[in-house]
Amino acid sequence: MRIDIITVLPDLLSSFLHHSIVQRAQDKNLVDLKIHDLRDYTVTKHRTVDDYAYGGGAGMVLMIEPIVNCLEHLKQAREYQEIIYLSPDGVPLNQSVANEVSLFDHVILLCGHYKGVDERVREHFVTREISIGDYVLSGGELPAAVLADAVIRLLPGVLSDETSALTDSFQDGLVAPPVFTRPANFRGLNVPEILLSGHEKNIEQWRFDESVKRTESRRPSGSKSSNKSK
Ligand code: SAM
Repeated sequence: MRIDIITVLPDLLSSFLHHSIVQRAQDKNLVDLKIHDLRDYTVTKHRTVDDYAYGGGAGMVLMIEPIVNCLEHLKQAREYQEIIYLSPDGVPLNQSVANEVSLFDHVILLCGHYKGVDERVREHFVTREISIGDYVLSGGELPAAVLADAVIRLLPGVLSDETSALTDSFQDGLVAPPVFTRPANFRGLNVPEILLSGHEKNIEQWRFDESVKRTESRRPSGSKSSNKSK
């Protein structure tokens, strides 16, 4: 999979690129992540990417021209299935959305800034808008990193234990059961006996029961983000 991220703050994303699973996925050539500085696509001497909003009001707006220049440059090299704009009023990101995006070969993530992007970009060039929650951040970089991380860990071969992503919350309509590790007794706090029993079938049943209990208490209206249910 190839993910291209367009941003006015490329440095903000560099640490994200070079850590943990995202770094490993790139090392294994399972994902190709490219960051594009919007300022490289300006036509002005001062590399201006924003301007005042027509009609007045507070806040600058990212201009259409550098964004479209960048999109056209990328589209010349390959076809993109989706051009995703990260936006507070987009479709809420959940596991089902991440699963869907993970099936694409080439996607562009467009990060807004200031008051956002010129509406004509959204109307005529963006194919999907995703929000990471009903709150407003200063830019689309963190939302793009959140989406990219959620997607990359789903790509086959990225996680060392292939089943790991499948047993995480929301993949099967349930939240994940509790997990424990050594020591079995920490100052009188004991790990549930069943997990030490070695009885695989009973452990599996216990985990399923715990998942159901947790889902009922933490997501009483059901996990809206799953594709399937047990
Ligand atoms: N004026 C916009 C509004 O009220 O909806 C907010 C603009 S915000 C300050 C700047 C940029 O951050 C947005 O264009 C978007 O790319 C990104 N952003 C902020 N909050 C976000 C969220 N919850 N989900 C996704 N992107 C977000």
